[in-house]
Amino acid sequence: MEGARQRRDILTRGACRCCAAAGYHRELMKEYNFEGNREVYAEIFMECFNINLDTHNTSNLICSSCIHRLRDANSFREMVLAGQRALQDVDPLQRGEFAQGTVS
Ligand SMILES: [Zn+2]
Repeated sequence: MEGARQRRDILTRGACRCCAAAGYHRELMKEYNFEGNREVYAEIFMECFNINLDTHNTSNLICSSCIHRLRDANSFREMVLAGQRALQDVDPLQRGEFAQGTVS
């Protein structure tokens, strides 16, 4: 596989801190770039789940499968927050809050 050798990522061999899978993984505390955005997986864990991953005396690596799941969880969280903001901006009448209980 020539393509794999051309990847710019420097991967470290070890166990994934999240699922314990052995392999070549990225680091939790290191800064990466994904689609033009900075990402640090340990920070995303804190924002998304309020989990401060302790990497002292244990693995500081995360596998690609867990990275995908973490990104998906974080984008779902961002969507829910955006939806909440959008609903708060809508007039209560449009939300239908006063539709019930009206007498004609
Ligand atoms: Zn994993």
